[in-house]
Amino acid sequence: MPSTRIDADIVIVGDGSHIKNGSVVLENNKIIYAGEQEHAPSADKDLFSPVVMPGLWESHAHYTGITKANISSISETPQPVLIARATWDVRETLASGITSVREVGGFGVYLKTAVEEGFIPGPRIYGAGSVISQTGGHGDFHTMPLDIVNLMNDRSMGLGELADGVAECYRAVRKQLRKGAEIIKYCASGGVMSIVDHPIHQQFSPEEHRAIVEEALRAELGVAAHCHGAPGIRAALEAGVTTIDHGTFLDEDLAELMVEKNAILVPTLYVVRRLIQFSKELELPDYALVKAKAIEERHKEAVKIAIKTGVTIAMGTDIFASGPNGIFQWGQNAFELVYLVESGMSNSDAIVSATGNGPLTLGPHAPKSGVLKEGYDADLLLLEKNPLDDITVLTERSNIKSVIRNGQIVVEHPASQTP
Ligand SMILES: [Zn+2]
Repeated sequence: MPSTRIDADIVIVGDGSHIKNGSVVLENNKIIYAGEQEHAPSADKDLFSPVVMPGLWESHAHYTGITKANISSISETPQPVLIARATWDVRETLASGITSVREVGGFGVYLKTAVEEGFIPGPRIYGAGSVISQTGGHGDFHTMPLDIVNLMNDRSMGLGELADGVAECYRAVRKQLRKGAEIIKYCASGGVMSIVDHPIHQQFSPEEHRAIVEEALRAELGVAAHCHGAPGIRAALEAGVTTIDHGTFLDEDLAELMVEKNAILVPTLYVVRRLIQFSKELELPDYALVKAKAIEERHKEAVKIAIKTGVTIAMGTDIFASGPNGIFQWGQNAFELVYLVESGMSNSDAIVSATGNGPLTLGPHAPKSGVLKEGYDADLLLLEKNPLDDITVLTERSNIKSVIRNGQIVVEHPASQTP
């Protein structure tokens, strides 16, 4: 593949630094140079863009193929339909400038194959397979007969994997490894989208938390812990998880513990806000609306505490619906950055949360990605306007001139063709 040199007024590196009058040179699927223009090697092809930055990382979302905010609709829809719908989401993900996705439960492990084979344009997908949950936990379908839930899970038709006791936790992790999981996801507390469990209650015993993390680590994988309540956050951190996802009841002590343990918070402000704002359109069940409203304010506070304490934060939206509904859909992922900035984060830190911090959420499996440095994946965005000045430009398709993945332009937006 010919080499490409991209000169820019500003190169946003993805680690919090930037280079004025910079240049990035790509060869095959890697970056071979990022630095000042005057020292840049020449290449076969030259491009210019006012702003160049790494492709974005979405660190918490789901490819499910359901069209409403009701998880149990998975059980009412044939799986081929769900997966066919999700191919739209995959395409849309890339078109919006997301070049890597940590997919924390859903069909990502399968969609990845189709993307890598070249059947669908899409991002790099690092999937969890199914979400590991205790019986009656956040990943269970509470109103369905348990044997049917387990049968669906065995056939990868649900999104969950039920496990109780240390031996079953080991096995649940191994079942995800068998599907090609690159991150392990489990529920350390109750949730919003499940019926009978309480978001504040811890799920799984400390021994079970440890078993999940230990088994994941043996395969050099990181662990994402869904948690709202403080007891679950603490248990997950003590077990050594890589990320705390949602983190609603994070307080100062727990934030300090996160820093000490080098754990990353993936707050998912987008999901809480959108589910409440568009509950009718999304047909959000009443039980979920009540739970979402109950955590909304505390969740905002948790994010502020995390920012103030210096917890590492990665961008994740928890988008789990499929298709172009326009209000809660893949392709809107960068709105999370706007919400993070509203929570007190600087534009520069918000960009780092969606670039340099993204791969870190995969723990020991982290690829060299998310920053524009020699040897890293050649995934870049060519932008018209600078998100360091205004973060909202990352939500505007017309601002994203080109998306480069693996060293090749894979998306070009028409607006950019005007001089
Ligand atoms: Zn989620």
